[in-house]
Amino acid sequence: MNMLFERKLAIPVEVKEMYPLTGAMNETVEKSRRAIADIFEGKDDRKILVIGPCSADNEDSVMDYISRLCPVQEKVKDKILIVPRIYTNKPRTTGDGYKGLVHQPDPTGKPDMFNGIIATRRIHMRAVAETGFGCADEMLYPENYKYLDDLLAYVAVGARSVEDQQHRLTASGIETAVGMKNPTSGDYSVMMNAIMAAQHSHTFIYRGWEAHSMGNPHAHAILRGYTNDLGQTRPNYHYEDLVRLCDVYDSKDLANPAVVIDTNHANSGKDPFQQPRIMKEVIHSATPHERIANTLKHSMVKPYIEDGAQKPGDGCYGKSITDACLGWEKTERLIYEVADML
Ligand code: PEP
Ligand code: MN
Repeated sequence: MNMLFERKLAIPVEVKEMYPLTGAMNETVEKSRRAIADIFEGKDDRKILVIGPCSADNEDSVMDYISRLCPVQEKVKDKILIVPRIYTNKPRTTGDGYKGLVHQPDPTGKPDMFNGIIATRRIHMRAVAETGFGCADEMLYPENYKYLDDLLAYVAVGARSVEDQQHRLTASGIETAVGMKNPTSGDYSVMMNAIMAAQHSHTFIYRGWEAHSMGNPHAHAILRGYTNDLGQTRPNYHYEDLVRLCDVYDSKDLANPAVVIDTNHANSGKDPFQQPRIMKEVIHSATPHERIANTLKHSMVKPYIEDGAQKPGDGCYGKSITDACLGWEKTERLIYEVADML
């Protein structure tokens, strides 16, 4: 191989021994997973808000951000379950750019995979311990999932990964709800095939083991917009898109038909300030139509403390170093407005 194998990294069980969860942390994660499962199973008619910055680049500002969500969660708890996004792995369209905390625990420093793994575990542990939230991350590298599998309450498979067999098979063996995004082309069938694969059980090779997965009944759709063949971004959160998704679900034998709308990415043309409008439009589209209202479990939104984005190293506290985000004041207002509409 044309690769330098720099050092052997600690395996998940070793990292978990170094950074074990307390009983209280376990309970928080379990409780949050159960609440999310109840929403996807229709036993609880609250909605889920997966909410947080594009990338978790800095432990302090991410913790600050999540702590601000605590009093908001308390106020909207009858309507909304907040699941903070702590995205430690970033997929890159061309492979270049900041690949997340797991690659660069210091976003301006060199890649350091050992400290990156520790940093991702630390930030997720702190969030669970200090805020009581069960949190979300993207499963970008299925083989790395076990470093965090005791911590996450919600997982997404991204638009660039959703057609990949190892992602689908791994998703079939994980305990949290998994959102399958539509691919960047927008093809629903790729997303639906991913949901089907994740809901079934499989035998496959995972981290050197012959593994048998149980199937994940909480695998569901995330609509994030798409890019057409002219390179233009196009939304897929409108009424017609939701009806089409419900029709596709009706034609398949899948457990717990559900969709989460990603208000960012190609749905907003990456303009973070469109996110409040999109969330409200989605609520208007869904509310009068029982079939859509039942399938719609809600939204994935990208806010941070400050509006917009900066380059890594620019040094503005709480401002995204990847996609532009919605600032805190606008976000807080949005959550209250949405709770009133639901
Ligand atoms: C994300 O949610 O930040 C992300 C990378 O999403 P997508 O896979 O939809 O581009
Ligand atoms: Mn993003």
